[in-house]
Amino acid sequence: MTTSTAAQAGGSPVGTGPATTRAARQGRLTVLRAARLFDGISSALIPDPVVVLEGSRICSVSSGTKAPDGAAVVDLAGATLLPGLIDTHVHLAFDASTDPVGRLAGRRDGAVIQAMTQAGRAALRGGVTTVRDLGDRGYLSLGLRGRAGLPTIVAAGPPITTPGGHCHYLGGAVAPTIADVRAAVREHAARGVDVIKIMASGGNLTPGSRQELAQFPAEVLRAAVEEAHRLGLPVTAHAHGTGAIADAVAAGADGLEHVSFWTENGVDAPGQLIRLIAERRIIVGATVGMVPVPGMTPPPELARRLPGITANTRRLHQAGAVIVAGTDAGIAPVKPHDVVRHAPAMLRQLGFGQAQALRAITSVAVGVCGLAHRKGRVAAGFDADILAVDGDPIADPDALHRVRAVYARGAAVPGAGT
Ligand SMILES: [Zn+2]
Repeated sequence: MTTSTAAQAGGSPVGTGPATTRAARQGRLTVLRAARLFDGISSALIPDPVVVLEGSRICSVSSGTKAPDGAAVVDLAGATLLPGLIDTHVHLAFDASTDPVGRLAGRRDGAVIQAMTQAGRAALRGGVTTVRDLGDRGYLSLGLRGRAGLPTIVAAGPPITTPGGHCHYLGGAVAPTIADVRAAVREHAARGVDVIKIMASGGNLTPGSRQELAQFPAEVLRAAVEEAHRLGLPVTAHAHGTGAIADAVAAGADGLEHVSFWTENGVDAPGQLIRLIAERRIIVGATVGMVPVPGMTPPPELARRLPGITANTRRLHQAGAVIVAGTDAGIAPVKPHDVVRHAPAMLRQLGFGQAQALRAITSVAVGVCGLAHRKGRVAAGFDADILAVDGDPIADPDALHRVRAVYARGAAVPGAGT
């Protein structure tokens, strides 16, 4: 029997020591029982799991055992337990409307914080217990970190961009010089961001910016990465244009967002660049995950490139690149804040198996967020971030949308699964 700690292998009882019994009597232990467990790593589901939560942590995981005396037992019959899902690229400040940029511009900071809180709650109800916010306004996402009732938030603050460049209205525009970009990185570090997001190319949300063009000279991008690494911060680069992707790779960026290999007339992904991304273990944040919304179609310039973008992401996967789902939640109605549950369907089109797709939105994604030591797995010692869905999400991928319950740092999320 596979269990998540060696000590509990063999289906031996768990949590029966004097300390745990005492804790159970005091009502501090919650036990989740279900039909199956996906632990975040193994493709084989564990039958009849017994997951014991103590406060915000998982204290043991076993199979077919008895719950400790006095513990509160939650019996999720027929359900599968999984690690809470992780989206490596969201924008809590965008409200997933048809005009997220205009709506944000029309809100003062207090209203933005309210909207971000609603976005976070919606994510949590949908099973997303950790998000990496790759672009807010005024560093507002930093203040939401650690709030009860919200997902765990990893925050970039306003993305570093150029005057008039992609998402300049979020407040992170600086002149594209080495001195200015280094100063911007230092300011972000001083504010306490967890990651630096830099707009290496233009993007679709910003009229006037060009997706196929680099926004910064290569040496300026390199300086930004150097400065961030000197301060102990990872860097992820928004990069559509093939030249911007190559520059970000050469600059030593830890991650790339979108990676569409966008050119003026189509897409172009040189084999050498694909190999470099895979070899250097640069994280590819694929913009996968979309909720079908009647009447919504991608803009024509994206629609005609989509087959090429999918084919190139598939090549990255075949080359062994690390691919995670960075959905860009919030930027459109097809991208609500719990959209990452829809990523596995698109990951399978890239050649992922379903268990591998589930790892991409749990145990693999968590490393990208710098939280691999405590999230992304259902195992003893890890945070009690757990999603329960009806059915078997490996045999039946749609089961992922049948949310039964969500626990975030040990607390049941109100409104999840009802
Ligand atoms: Zn984005």
